[in-house]
Amino acid sequence: MAAKKKKGEPKGVYKYYEVSGDSAKSKKAVCPRCGNGVFLAEHADRQSCGKCGYTEFKK
Ligand SMILES: [Zn+2]
Repeated sequence: MAAKKKKGEPKGVYKYYEVSGDSAKSKKAVCPRCGNGVFLAEHADRQSCGKCGYTEFKK
């Protein structure tokens, strides 16, 4: 019997992770306190976390 190894299976979780990571890099900043998955809200002169209240001022 030949062992079957499936390669290239569609993995929804992996795909979601990839897209999420890319968008986080290019657009949204992640809260350093809350960690991955919690993004900072965009303001004119700053970014703030709605969860813990962390605020980061833009230069
Ligand atoms: Zn936070």
